[in-house]
Amino acid sequence: MEERLQKVLAHAGVASRRKCETLIVEGHVTVDGVKITELGHKVDAAKQVIAVDGQPVQAERKVILLLNKPTAHVTTVSDPEGRRTVMSLLPDVAERLYPVGRLDYDTSGLLLFTNDGTLTERLLHPSYDIEKVYRVTVIGQVDKEARRMLAEGIELEDGVTAPAQVEVLKQGEESVVHIAIHEGRNRQVRRMFEKLHLPVKRLKRIAFGPIALGHMKTGDWRLLEPSEWKALY
Ligand code: URA
Repeated sequence: MEERLQKVLAHAGVASRRKCETLIVEGHVTVDGVKITELGHKVDAAKQVIAVDGQPVQAERKVILLLNKPTAHVTTVSDPEGRRTVMSLLPDVAERLYPVGRLDYDTSGLLLFTNDGTLTERLLHPSYDIEKVYRVTVIGQVDKEARRMLAEGIELEDGVTAPAQVEVLKQGEESVVHIAIHEGRNRQVRRMFEKLHLPVKRLKRIAFGPIALGHMKTGDWRLLEPSEWKALY
């Protein structure tokens, strides 16, 4: 992925962003052996050789990790109430990882973590329209009218939801559905079903854009496969 040269240099720990700009302007920096002195220049740190005064710069390794989040964990780095956080489930890596979005305390399933802030911004930005799929267990039957309303949009306090795709897997006193949404509002899925008088008993995210949870034990993590990387970038 292409990023501004000064940003790549700063992330690699060469110096502050401002100081890196000075290094560029003063002609200390080369990209694939060519001196670059303008600040807007974009580079792909994974593919190009960037050097400062002839010394190649080691770009920070990008990490993307997938956690199968258990319930009863908050998606924050620390919690003032002392509850368990998802960070306690991650491996000890040198890079600073941050969650890509959030799952509620009582929600389980697919949660991505990365040290690539640009990727995070992109994945969460509404214009990228990332589809998230949830497996939802509700109390009651998801009848035709409920399915129609989910597909057309539900009126919530913060506006009408975008059309969702719904697939019913089990219908009964407790019903199970897969729902695909393209937004990421706070407690959105729970609020959509509450509006239909169908309390959510269990909520699990099973896909985030091109990435599927697959078979993983709750609480386990894995690094993304190269093909999954490609699908995200
Ligand atoms: N919708 C919710 O209601 N909760 C989540 O954690 C994710 C989506």
